[in-house]
Amino acid sequence: MIYSVSALAHILGAKLLGDPNSKVEHIFYDSRNIISPTHGVFIAFSGIRNGHNFMEEAYKKSIRIFICSHIPVVHPDATYLIVENPITALQKWAHHHLSSYQGLTTIGITGSNGKTVLKEWIDQCLWDEFSIIKSPKSYNSQIGLPLSILQIDSKHNLGVFEVGISKPGEMDKQEKALHPNIGVLTNVLAAHSEYFKNKEEHILEKIKLFKHSNVIIFPNEPSISKIIREIYPDKKLVSFGEDHSDIQLLKTTLKDNIALLKISIFGKVIEYTFPFTDHASIQNVLGLLAVLNEFEFSPNFIQEKLLQLQSVSMRLELMSGINNCTIINDSFNSDYQSLEIALHFLFQQNKPKKVLILSDIFQSRMPDAELYKKIADLVNSFPLQYILLVGEKTYKYKNLFTAMYKSFLSTTEVIKFLENQSIKDATILIKGARKFELEKVAQLLVVQSHDTILEVNLHSLLMNVNYFKSQLKPETKIIAMVKASSYGLGNFEVAEVLQYYHIDYLAVAYPDEGFKLRDKGIYLPIMVMNPEMSSYDRVIDYKLEPEIYSFRELDLFIQKLKEKNTAKRYPIHIKIDTGMHRLGFQPEETRKLGELLKDNDWIEVKSVFSHFAVSDVLEEEKFTRLQASKLNYSFDILVTILGYKPLLHISNSTGIINYPEYQFDAVRLGIGMYGYIDNEKALKKLENVITLKTVISNIHELKPGETVGYGRRFIVQKNRSIATLPIGYADGIRRIIGNGKGYVNIQGKKAPIIGNICMDMMMVDVTGIACKEGDTVIIIGENPSLKKYAEWYQTIPYEVLTSISPRVKRIYYRE
Ligand SMILES: *Cc1c(COP(=O)(O)O)cnc(C)c1O
Repeated sequence: MIYSVSALAHILGAKLLGDPNSKVEHIFYDSRNIISPTHGVFIAFSGIRNGHNFMEEAYKKSIRIFICSHIPVVHPDATYLIVENPITALQKWAHHHLSSYQGLTTIGITGSNGKTVLKEWIDQCLWDEFSIIKSPKSYNSQIGLPLSILQIDSKHNLGVFEVGISKPGEMDKQEKALHPNIGVLTNVLAAHSEYFKNKEEHILEKIKLFKHSNVIIFPNEPSISKIIREIYPDKKLVSFGEDHSDIQLLKTTLKDNIALLKISIFGKVIEYTFPFTDHASIQNVLGLLAVLNEFEFSPNFIQEKLLQLQSVSMRLELMSGINNCTIINDSFNSDYQSLEIALHFLFQQNKPKKVLILSDIFQSRMPDAELYKKIADLVNSFPLQYILLVGEKTYKYKNLFTAMYKSFLSTTEVIKFLENQSIKDATILIKGARKFELEKVAQLLVVQSHDTILEVNLHSLLMNVNYFKSQLKPETKIIAMVKASSYGLGNFEVAEVLQYYHIDYLAVAYPDEGFKLRDKGIYLPIMVMNPEMSSYDRVIDYKLEPEIYSFRELDLFIQKLKEKNTAKRYPIHIKIDTGMHRLGFQPEETRKLGELLKDNDWIEVKSVFSHFAVSDVLEEEKFTRLQASKLNYSFDILVTILGYKPLLHISNSTGIINYPEYQFDAVRLGIGMYGYIDNEKALKKLENVITLKTVISNIHELKPGETVGYGRRFIVQKNRSIATLPIGYADGIRRIIGNGKGYVNIQGKKAPIIGNICMDMMMVDVTGIACKEGDTVIIIGENPSLKKYAEWYQTIPYEVLTSISPRVKRIYYRE
């Protein structure tokens, strides 16, 4: 993609300020991801994180061309394209770009779920038949789709794009950027219709994508089918599903790990062997067959391709590695764009040492010399310490890579190398084509642990932060509460991702939590709520900011500052006790406190704050209002005496929702970002962040009269299948939910916990659930949720979250 600025101004209808002859070759919209700025344009989107605030940072990183709605600081050597709405401009640009490639067939996939899998499967089947351009990973948003379209160039002859929407009105805009020749609707789930009045409205919005399509492929469900037939009577309509569908599943026979599918394709019955047995995959394959049928491939061809289908992993996982390494295993996806995304993810990690293990790349029809030049250019733009290359192709082109490298012909060779040579203190990205089985390398490098893991979805956590941000005024700061190892989610990973996304402040409970964060490279200001006097020395060395709640503490802290003869006035936070009666100065003491702080050259009051006791209970509104007014009273006195204005804050998560008027200068966000809030309406907007999972270790078939577990508390009445799970009370699952009180989730079904929970194991009843040893079991997650556990334990979700034992390995991922 190469555009001159003047052409671009014309396409976007933009006002041009600067040099019309500059060239644009790549697009950036996140200033942190700018690595090779030459010929780059920075687009300032005004979302929750307003891109205009980051134009200066982009400028500092040598970006000289900007698309924006206004210019915060004008630089005479920069070029500006000024548009009303940068997102609309990007969509216009994509539309223009697409229409200049007439020879390209496009497939547009929308629906509530299954989009990415279907897109990747189409690519897995057709990559050596066509030169395919596809959206990377799940880039389907208002920004992701146009950016994917702009990657099209003259060698492509098939485009496969995912199209997502979240609100009414968005599909029209998406359709302006892409009008697919073939439109596919995977499904419409009611659960995703929160912005729509009803399912019909949701379907109507989604199918706007097909306005200009020749063919529409859709699930044969009465509500969907009826609407599509009404709106698009003149198009070729292809339904898939069970009864009376064009692509109709007649019969499924499951055998070991494969499914035999008897399918009628427009009346012609064909039997396919399919390497997946789960319901979702079988739904997805029907859509896939409908698409392949449009290209008139033979059943033999299709069968061969189906057998090669691979599961689609949509996320990048961070795992603890041996020798203090962190491992990112992305050995399922191999193409240029997913390499680019994975490299950016690698460089978001804190450890300075970065290592890439990369295999040959297959899914491209570009000539090798060109492909590996392009890949090397990309890889060379990241300051890697070391590269390990695997495969004959990368071996041939190894000299293109500028970092230190070693090249191997096979995975076995790399493994042999790594067994003798250890990489220490690095973040290692493993990226390769399926064929190379680089997961074996991952197995070697990852710390082995048991099958029970706590998955932390950092993307959902950020979405939750964004939700709370959207409920606040833009200038209100967020202090993210990462005390108690981020409510049990992990020592530093949450802080790290929040820092990357420019959160304003962090807060921990005790100094040692703050020391750990600093040791892991967290440089954000950190407030310590309980700064134990014995650690003042290190608190100061580590630049942690103490909460000061008593005269004694204030006195000792100032003494310590004098002793250390600190250079600048040291930031402290004054806690006022407005009714919680835990820690803090009484409002009546404010004047005395002010006099002590006044003209004191050792300290600077960074903030004045208090803590709500009942912001979640609306009947207690009066008390909450009284707390806020007491804080205001003390604040006013302090401001008058001090002669400057510290930050003022009192709200926690429920406070943000129930009392937006008390957001003041900052809020302290805790449980809400971790996915729970005691407010039904707000809870619906939050995403689930944690999933505690395990696998079935063993299944027993028991006969009447047999018993299960310690104390023989479960006596079998009728024939039962009993599964043993490697998780027990030492992992934080309390004994009181044994004996039928609680359940776990297997294949979406409830399996009651039976007998007593043991220290490291528990037994569940899986009678009637299609499952086998090795299958995944959800202990806590979407269902059963933290809230459910809180009910079972008769406690609050906070306690459930923080009591998951540290021995359970945490895995962090971003979708
Ligand atoms: C834990 C804590 C918060 C966060 O409360 P949530 O209810 O989790 O949002 C805020 N302020 C203080 C002082 C806290 O200790």
